[in-house]
Amino acid sequence: MSVILPGSTLGVMGGGQLGRMFVHAAQQMGYFTAVLDADVTSPAGLVSHHHVKTGYEDPQGLAELARLSAAVTTEFENVPSAALRTLAATRPVAPAGEAVAIAQDRVREKQHFQRCGVPCAPYAVIETPAQVAMVDASLFPGILKTSRLGYDGKGQARVANADELADAWAALGYAPCVLEQQLALVCELSVIVARGRDGQVVHLPPQRNLHRGGILAVTEVHEGNLPPAPASAAIAATKNIANGLGYVGVLCVEFFLLQDGSLVVNEMAPRPHNSGHYSMDACDASQFELQVRALAGLPLAQPRQHSPAIMLNLLGDLWFPQVAAGQGPAGAAAAPAVTPPWAQVLALPGAHLHLYGKQEARPGRKMGHLTLTGPDAASVRAVALQAAALLGIAPW
Ligand code: ATP
Ligand code: MG
Repeated sequence: MSVILPGSTLGVMGGGQLGRMFVHAAQQMGYFTAVLDADVTSPAGLVSHHHVKTGYEDPQGLAELARLSAAVTTEFENVPSAALRTLAATRPVAPAGEAVAIAQDRVREKQHFQRCGVPCAPYAVIETPAQVAMVDASLFPGILKTSRLGYDGKGQARVANADELADAWAALGYAPCVLEQQLALVCELSVIVARGRDGQVVHLPPQRNLHRGGILAVTEVHEGNLPPAPASAAIAATKNIANGLGYVGVLCVEFFLLQDGSLVVNEMAPRPHNSGHYSMDACDASQFELQVRALAGLPLAQPRQHSPAIMLNLLGDLWFPQVAAGQGPAGAAAAPAVTPPWAQVLALPGAHLHLYGKQEARPGRKMGHLTLTGPDAASVRAVALQAAALLGIAPW
């Protein structure tokens, strides 16, 4: 395949914030963009040159996206892989539908990790009542997760024993699931790589991630954020996982660091990842620029982080301070939304505000993120804590 040069149009399946930041990166490099998303106010659709407003499986929508685009990527993990295969019949598509299909299914994903020699948490497949009855007691306490369509901790339940497992599986509608042993985590980390059609792989520095309520809250990337040995092991494992898939595009792999210093893989995302947003402000190539380069067949220069960084996720909860403080009505819907104090936050040195253009704030909804950069880890951390205090984000 020849290189797709600026001036061409790059397409993306999905119109969420990841698509929006892909569009921004593509446009910065002189590409035109096309987004397919049924939502007329989708964050990416609002800023793209072309917006195909259909569902992911609409044959006419897919034909229109293919007509407009020289190549197509995806920003949404649950895009039907059949749609990517349809597009791939006429246009280069990266990542490939098959890689996306594996990432969409926790069982296939874990099998791939094992094939690559990367250990995951002990688990059992839960698809039949017999499998529930036979589950090994060593998996308790455990986390039951739907095999498909989970995100931000949705489709998950913590279970302490076999009875709770049976109840939780019923509550998840007897959907195919995996039961994972609940591990004692020292911390969570993730690694983002980009792999080109020629097999070249580059990576961003490992991110230390703090989750709250199953949703990413804080990402810290600076010297000393992680012990060096597991950090390099995570980079090597992520490259293996990408190479094993023959992957083309940006891939993020999430890991757990355990008390004995060992590393366990959690899951992967076949696209840029929330934990990589700091790269826009702290690295000389962002994860979205890497996505553009990989899709277009351009060289992937190894990115360099030029500033220590901390990213705070801006969830819709921040718009309802009275609810967070426990003073307002129990239902957030009843409370009026209050715009967070952006001007005060932007008075802090090295504050980079990214908002995704979503009209309505709702608790748990990803509205934007704030990246703090600075000369060293200690000062970035001090400013990040100030920003968190202004925004009503609990310190960590
Ligand atoms: P997302 O796609 O938003 O990353 P998700 O819904 O796919 O999230 P997971 O990444 O599987 O969910 O789990 C969410 C969080 O729950 C993890 O980041 C971690 O904090 C915790 N968690 C998940 N599995 C385990 C486990 N086996 N042991 C301990 N904690 C876990
Ligand atoms: Mg996760």
